[in-house]
Amino acid sequence: MSDIGNKTVTEYIRDYYKSATGAAPDRIEQREFGFGSFASRIAVRHTSFKNERELHSYLVDTAPLHVDYSAAYYKNPDAPMDRKEWLGSELRFDIDAGDIVKLPCRIEHGKEWACEKCLDAAKEEVIKLVENFLVPDFGFSERELEINFSGNRGYHVHIRKESVLSLNKSAREEISNYIFGQEPDYNSFFYTVKIDPRHEKQMGPGPGDGGWRGKVAKAFLDAASSKEDLTSLGIDKVTASWIFKNIVKVREQISQGNWDFVRIPNRESVFGNLLSRQVINQGNRIDKGVTNDPSHLMRLPNTIHGGTGLIAKKVPSLAALEIFDPMKGALAFKTGELRVRADSRYRLAINGREFGPYKNEELELPAYAATYLYLKGLADIISNK
Ligand SMILES: [Zn+2]
Repeated sequence: MSDIGNKTVTEYIRDYYKSATGAAPDRIEQREFGFGSFASRIAVRHTSFKNERELHSYLVDTAPLHVDYSAAYYKNPDAPMDRKEWLGSELRFDIDAGDIVKLPCRIEHGKEWACEKCLDAAKEEVIKLVENFLVPDFGFSERELEINFSGNRGYHVHIRKESVLSLNKSAREEISNYIFGQEPDYNSFFYTVKIDPRHEKQMGPGPGDGGWRGKVAKAFLDAASSKEDLTSLGIDKVTASWIFKNIVKVREQISQGNWDFVRIPNRESVFGNLLSRQVINQGNRIDKGVTNDPSHLMRLPNTIHGGTGLIAKKVPSLAALEIFDPMKGALAFKTGELRVRADSRYRLAINGREFGPYKNEELELPAYAATYLYLKGLADIISNK
């Protein structure tokens, strides 16, 4: 970090906000805002704006490194906490590649870096969050979810449906525990029913069941339509072929919760695999505070992330998310070149090009790559030409 570096980045941010629109949240006059600087991640908070125009001129005037806004709507958003008068809060989820456990690429590049594979993995978890939980279990429609790239190495999901606004802290905790909690216990899925003194019938989850039970039964039946999928769950080849051959009967029986018909020798480990595929991979460190705390501040979508220089860009739909590449689609500083001294062991893939690794080299880079490396502490900006 250097004076010239900080000044250059600040001017790039200012230029971005001069022409950028679409950062104002709904009910802007009821939101608390916070701002971060080079010195402090949240340097200012308890700020509010009457309308989009006020926010926009503030962004152009101060060119802040980080912009955050409250999950909450308040009567007095600029008052101290105890006098804000809470009116409700949106529901938020934070999926970060840094929290995904057992990501093979992290062994190569370490925790501090996010590569394309990290970003893709975070995207997969967001799709799971929406398709496995928010839509089927909580009944939200896709249109009620707002998804945005976090600006660094993950995604945020916001829900502003009337029914979630008044949820208190413990209701929010229940939701995050359900979604991000431990995998349910195998034993809670299966039970036996005595048919006669010598025979017990094995019962289990059916695809019509709610919550986790329906989820695993459906996932099993999905896998049952392909022998490869069945063996990838850890089912031996002979059993997989048998299931595949008898798929009609298997479907019919499992639809009624009858697992007696399907003999899988290592069912406990197969179910373990089925369950781990369903849960959101966010490790134990998941920042549940984001979901649980109704007064949480979070990065404002469509503003600059001061740790990368990328835009925390809104993604219009799940279909758009599938093909979204943040290292192309979230670029803010598209023009100009900067002279830098770079010292980075990473290969930066951005805007369809690759930069680095660099061994303490002086060179000119496009502004988006130079600012990214500068803000990650891997290059110093020497001059803006
Ligand atoms: Zn990676």
